[in-house]
Amino acid sequence: MSLVSYKRKRNFDVTPEPSGTKRSAHKQAPSLIYVIQKHRASHLHYDFRLEWNGVLLSWAVPKGPSLDPSVKRLATQVEDHPLDYANFEGVIPEGEYGGGTVMLWDKGTWAPESDDPAAALEKGDLKFTLKGKKLKGSWVLVRTRGFGRQPARPSWLLIKHRDQYASTGDITEREPRSVSTRRLLVEIAHEGGGDVRKAATGDPPAALERKLATIERGRGLSTHGS
Ligand code: MN
Repeated sequence: MSLVSYKRKRNFDVTPEPSGTKRSAHKQAPSLIYVIQKHRASHLHYDFRLEWNGVLLSWAVPKGPSLDPSVKRLATQVEDHPLDYANFEGVIPEGEYGGGTVMLWDKGTWAPESDDPAAALEKGDLKFTLKGKKLKGSWVLVRTRGFGRQPARPSWLLIKHRDQYASTGDITEREPRSVSTRRLLVEIAHEGGGDVRKAATGDPPAALERKLATIERGRGLSTHGS
């Protein structure tokens, strides 16, 4: 686990992302951070992150998580991220690594379900419990052979276990907003000076329609007032 790869990919004079230099800024938390960042970069994906050994282990999940235990979601492991990345929401400048809009989609804590999570990670079969605002209950990440083209980016599958939190509903459609600011991607891009049109393609059309209706109602009221 190291941040060498994370730092090499980024120019911290340009991007507002954390530089990962505040090494001992916070003490060891009593519980482990879990966070998902919805990221409209060159492609839309959900960055799934679990705190481990002082960094955030990170996987890019193109389709996002599914609460349906029969659905396996591809999760490509990417470079470890610094712990303070767990608070980042905003706009990464276009042309920079990961340029686009980042939303804090879910946040909470996680706990391994085995006595030896280091061995489980090494083996490529990590069972764990999530306590997020959106995702809860038992999950597994299983490393796959075969379709990981780059050795530095192993392929895993993210799968929900059967429990009271399993469901066939689409959580990414039903809960499209930021867990910290309640904003859609389009609003984060707008307020952060990002590419609004590109960001909007990552929001569900139904959520954008509701947002438009709110804006139109607001305009109607101000017209009557003048
Ligand atoms: Mn990303």
